[in-house]
Amino acid sequence: MVHPDEHQGEVLITSEELQAKVRELAAQINADYAGRDVLLVCVLKGAVLFLADLLRCLEVPAEVEFMAVSSYGAATETSGVVRVLKDLDRSIDGRHVLVVEDIVDSGLTLDYLLRMLEERRPASLEVCALLTKPERRQVQLEARYVGFEIPDRFVVGYGLDHDERLRGLPHIAALS
Ligand code: 5GP
Repeated sequence: MVHPDEHQGEVLITSEELQAKVRELAAQINADYAGRDVLLVCVLKGAVLFLADLLRCLEVPAEVEFMAVSSYGAATETSGVVRVLKDLDRSIDGRHVLVVEDIVDSGLTLDYLLRMLEERRPASLEVCALLTKPERRQVQLEARYVGFEIPDRFVVGYGLDHDERLRGLPHIAALS
């Protein structure tokens, strides 16, 4: 719930655009994973709304697991050292894993996470990221599925927070 007085920024991506993109991404995933079971690994907390909408559009058998990570260092910059706050509850050995991420900024968090998951011997490991900020990238990282490329701005809404607030906005907004 957003407080009516709270500054909610400038709308970058509308709710309709998000929903259309989710359907588009799901169609690609349905085609690519046809005949296989997919294990969606959702990175808490920012990716939960994206996961929920994506899951509803998937026709391939999909299971869901959650992970929570936090980056050491200053609040708005990641250091690349990632602390696992909540690990997966099950083995991913031999599974087709699709990591569902909210946003790839420097890429350091995801890079660390992918290395960690790779060691657990999944049959395949891919990334579906709703947003990416290409200008900010510090590591070479290929996400197979990407929703939107956005400029170097701090965004909120559709799961993304500012100090734990504004996750409930149905659109993506940039704070000034
Ligand atoms: P990276 O390691 O790629 O630099 O940072 C990734 C994480 O930083 C994301 O999963 C997200 O939690 C956070 N993050 C990066 N950019 C933004 C942003 O613009 N808004 C919000 N709310 N979080 C962001």
